[in-house]
Amino acid sequence: MSTAPQPSTELIGLVSPDELQHRLGLSTVLAFAAHPDDIDFGASATIAALSERGVEVTLCLLTAGDAGGFDPGRTAEQTAELRRREQEEAAAVVGISEVTLLDERDGFVEPSYELIGSIVRQMRRVRPDAVLSFHPERAWDRLQKSHPDHLACGEAVVRACYPAVENPFAYPELAAEGLEPFKIRHLLLMGAPRHLAQTRVDVTGYQQRKIEALGRHFSQHRDAEKMVGFVTEQMRQIHAEGGFAEDFHHVVVNSPETISGF
Ligand SMILES: [Zn+2]
Repeated sequence: MSTAPQPSTELIGLVSPDELQHRLGLSTVLAFAAHPDDIDFGASATIAALSERGVEVTLCLLTAGDAGGFDPGRTAEQTAELRRREQEEAAAVVGISEVTLLDERDGFVEPSYELIGSIVRQMRRVRPDAVLSFHPERAWDRLQKSHPDHLACGEAVVRACYPAVENPFAYPELAAEGLEPFKIRHLLLMGAPRHLAQTRVDVTGYQQRKIEALGRHFSQHRDAEKMVGFVTEQMRQIHAEGGFAEDFHHVVVNSPETISGF
């Protein structure tokens, strides 16, 4: 198979991390998630594979996950601080180089004008080759993938990708700060409804890194063994040919053929 960049083509089927990197022309990936541990469930093996190949991956969290966990004795502030530390450790396991935190409240994320502006700010600062985030559509086969904050995160990121990040008239205060508009080329959306998750990344060899990263979120696992079993089985089912994989809905936002206006 050709490894030449084919930026106008969606990736379909099982692809290796090398193919993903080369066909999408990835040097920088910016990931968005609603809570600490989201990215580790959805994409950490793919991120480990990409970062090992020299791709710079940064993560922007919308909330500190202050409504998470199972310990009623902890305050929301203590939970937020604990989960921020857990995410820093998990990020180090898979080679994420930076974690930034927005100040949305766990459980109350909405794709507001303000949040989309904060997301555009991060995008224009990092200028990634691809954006990774949640899918904005609900997956009915497993409702837990589609926490309302996940859907809102997906919706806000998709709205930021088009048109706000590339429109010089959107959020003019950002351009005034030197954060110039630019075009996002690729979106990789995790937690997609099954019929849309057509890109399966072969992460065989990186499955253990995902388990290790998930293990750093100690506060979230009431039954760590069950979680490991579930995640491992899920990666096996997505691969379907004896290995391990993670799946995404790949969207080509802009290619040389794209015609756009605002
Ligand atoms: Zn979450």
